Amino acid sequence: MSPQIESLLVLQERDTRLFTLLKEIANLPKEEAALDLRLQTAQATFDQKKKLSMSLESDRKKIELEAQSKQQQIGRYRQQQLDTRKNEEFQALGNEIKHAEEAIQAFEDQQLTYMEQLEIAHKQLALDAEVLKKATADNQTGKATIAQKKISLEKSLAEVRALKQEAEAKVEASTLSKYQRIIANKKENALVPVRNGTCGGCHMKVTAQTMIAVKADKDLVSCDNCGRLVYLLE
Ligand SMILES: [Zn+2]
Repeated sequence: MSPQIESLLVLQERDTRLFTLLKEIANLPKEEAALDLRLQTAQATFDQKKKLSMSLESDRKKIELEAQSKQQQIGRYRQQQLDTRKNEEFQALGNEIKHAEEAIQAFEDQQLTYMEQLEIAHKQLALDAEVLKKATADNQTGKATIAQKKISLEKSLAEVRALKQEAEAKVEASTLSKYQRIIANKKENALVPVRNGTCGGCHMKVTAQTMIAVKADKDLVSCDNCGRLVYLLE
């Protein structure tokens, strides 16, 4: 293998590492967004259940007040019964009392239904509060981990960039620009092996002429099909 190809392989290995690091760094905001989405979802669910509980409680309270008001009304009717001397009026008040008592009974039945619903709602709310608590904690630790990861990735990035520069310095200018052009074009390896007469980039058979040139290992050889730089690997 020619020293030129060897230098290019070193450069390519560093470029690959650089590319991987850049991809990992670019992915960090997505990891953060996923954590935030989980927290937002947990918060929204909790808020919704909380609102439901509060609405049930307010309805229950309203029924309770209505029952109290009916109870007070009964008290007033009873007083009026004591005050009246008319039998007819006494009986009419008695009927009112009966209706009010029936209404109170209906309110009490409703109260029981509300209590049952509230019990279920409170249990669910407690579960949702746990989920929210966990999501909040995970969000914090997750973000701290991501921040640490970012620092370490950026450190590696600086190291690999320096190594890449070193490797570039060892490659001839014209070869380097050819290599860089292919990378810019293909967004992947510019230098690929030829195995069993097949290009490692496009997986096509290379021509006999290219095969001879590759074997000679003197000049830089390109695949006739894809244009990538090739070297022999047997
Ligand atoms: Zn090819």
